[in-house]
Amino acid sequence: MNYLFRSLALAFALWFAVAPSASAAEDFRLVYFPHEDVRSDFHNDWGNARSGGRRHKGTDIFAAKHSKVVAVADGFVTAMGKSGRAGYYVRITHQDGWESWYMHLNNDNPGSDDGSGGLEAAFPPGLEEGMYIPAGTVVGFVGDSGNAEATSPHTHFELHTATRRVNPYPYLADAHGRWFRVMELKSKLR
Ligand SMILES: [Zn+2]
Repeated sequence: MNYLFRSLALAFALWFAVAPSASAAEDFRLVYFPHEDVRSDFHNDWGNARSGGRRHKGTDIFAAKHSKVVAVADGFVTAMGKSGRAGYYVRITHQDGWESWYMHLNNDNPGSDDGSGGLEAAFPPGLEEGMYIPAGTVVGFVGDSGNAEATSPHTHFELHTATRRVNPYPYLADAHGRWFRVMELKSKLR
């Protein structure tokens, strides 16, 4: 009986957790929040001024170094590597040409800020360009590579349509809210 009650409660709560809210963006849906760590800190920093007259074209999501970065939806790994400004990065292409970008992945050896970690510090073993991966697959580890060396470890997250970059914040807030409710429920049922 207790088991039945718990199963029904879980089913109801999961339905509630994944049902779209009125404020949710309808055009693309983040099935997962990009960090496994639900306590990640982020706010709407789209358009904030950056050096050289640039504007911030993403959302910075702060979390502990080495914590897991996950794919927000099913898709293909269409780019992964290293560049000066982004540091270690990975790009996933989703349905209808939507893309998610994850930058400043980890470049440090464990317990250090040495900047000399290789690919294995940034990406999980086996992740390769061209792979199809389901939502929630680990695609990297939180870090401070590229021009983020002087900041707290964070993922610079971008969302692109086939033609432009969009402010990822409302999508992240929606996904984070759903994820948080699931985690809260899980802790109550334990
Ligand atoms: Zn950023």
